[in-house]
Amino acid sequence: MTLPPKLSARDFTRAVAELRSIVGADWVFTEEDDRQAWRDPMFPGDARRVDLSAAVAPATVQEVQAVVKVANRYRLPLWPVSTGKNYAYGGASPALKGTIVLDLKRMNRILEVNEQYGYAIVEPGVTYFDLYRHIKAKGLKLWIDCPSPGWASVLGNAMERGLGNTPYSDHAAQQCGMEVVLPTGDLVRTGMGAIENSPLWGLQKNPFGPTFDGMFMQSNLGIVTKMGIWLMPEPEVFAQCNIRLQREDALGPMIDALRPLRLNGTIQNPASVRSWIGMLLGQAAKKEVHDGPGAIPRELVPQILQQRNLSWWSTGFSLYGYEEVVEANLKVVRKALGSVPGAEALSVRKSAGDKVPDSAGTQAGVPSLGAFSTLNWPGGRGSHLDFSPVYEPSGAVAMAEYQFMRELFERHGFDFPATYSITSPRYMACVTPIMFDADNRQQAEAAGRLFLEAHQHLGTKGYGLYRAHVAFMDQVQQAQGFNQHALRRLSERIKDALDPQGILAPGKQGIWPKAMKGGRA
Ligand code: ADP
Repeated sequence: MTLPPKLSARDFTRAVAELRSIVGADWVFTEEDDRQAWRDPMFPGDARRVDLSAAVAPATVQEVQAVVKVANRYRLPLWPVSTGKNYAYGGASPALKGTIVLDLKRMNRILEVNEQYGYAIVEPGVTYFDLYRHIKAKGLKLWIDCPSPGWASVLGNAMERGLGNTPYSDHAAQQCGMEVVLPTGDLVRTGMGAIENSPLWGLQKNPFGPTFDGMFMQSNLGIVTKMGIWLMPEPEVFAQCNIRLQREDALGPMIDALRPLRLNGTIQNPASVRSWIGMLLGQAAKKEVHDGPGAIPRELVPQILQQRNLSWWSTGFSLYGYEEVVEANLKVVRKALGSVPGAEALSVRKSAGDKVPDSAGTQAGVPSLGAFSTLNWPGGRGSHLDFSPVYEPSGAVAMAEYQFMRELFERHGFDFPATYSITSPRYMACVTPIMFDADNRQQAEAAGRLFLEAHQHLGTKGYGLYRAHVAFMDQVQQAQGFNQHALRRLSERIKDALDPQGILAPGKQGIWPKAMKGGRA
């Protein structure tokens, strides 16, 4: 039996009985076999280090509030998840052993989809598949923006500032209005939701006075029970573009050629330059390519490229909008990118906005589970730990980091599936999976060591991560050291003010309540 810290088995049993009386006996899970569902199957090491004590699944906002009240009385740590599929960053796993997972996936209503103004209001359990199918079934001319696995929660992904691949890729930026249960049980609506029955909830983010929405993202200050999210009007034309680069050193010039097009809005979605190995991950198991230990040897690369019809790099982005505008922009793009060394001709797949093939994937907001084919790569119980640094969109930086990280990954025995993606006009967020077999403890721990060493390197250059696995949140927070960790001190002052009993997700993002600072790694 795993218990919340400082709670006796007797009090835990009492607390669980109270939780059952709120949500129903079937919706509190304490048995070993049940709890397995919330353990992170991709934990880089021993997942029991942060084992949950129970999971509770309320069905309404009132039930969430009642659960929070009980948690305050017994000092039960609660870890809210929407669908709990935050894999590669921790899944549904808490940061503190004995925490109770507060699973919100039963709250799965799509409350509104507004075609005229382009937004939806959803509950936590609504997945990208749900929203996509709803829009298709109603024939609405709207596109969603989804991350690679379509089974994730629209709300949950925005909470972690997840990224997709259409012009609406920055999910935190598309969020508009929240309903939040605070750690003491009070219920707040942000934005125009602060006015009863406002028609502006999904339109205007700013209320009269300060805004707090950002404070609830990547934090442990509230449980979000409703969220407005902007949706893109279906474009007349969608043109998916790809350019293969036949030289390894073409990465830098391509990033420099893409940057102005991103910055001036010619390219509106993340433009990514993916390495051959990033392309190969989804197509093969590693042992089909190289059956030896460690990373694939450099000298095999030319042969692999030829056999698999791959190029050193593959550049992908799309153009969206009226036919005439897309055609004009295609001309501009061809001219700007054609002179990159080793660049092949631009390949373009154009379709009408309402007849986009499913194969267009996340660049057209089509959710799928195709990304999981990459899990075949390492063999065994294929898993990944994502290392997701943020850089300025500079060719020189991309080349230098590529060189450094490739050598570092290889030294630790891992392939380096690099992707340099100009996710925002002003930065690259480079989600890089460290692929490992989760049943191979040695390899899983090596993945963690690589992550930490790579992260340490970022710190020497003033870089950081956009998101990180729950196992390493303390270290990543620790790297934000300006003025004796003033940002963490601010976060923890707010934490203690809003959550005096320290019940909500202690340790998330490396932010600990006063009484639990000892939990910090
Ligand atoms: P997804 O399944 O969409 O990948 P999760 O449901 O696993 O996302 O959520 C990822 C993380 O975001 C959670 O671990 C939690 O820290 C935070 N989170 C998700 N949903 C909420 C919510 N409704 N309220 C507060 N935090 C949330």
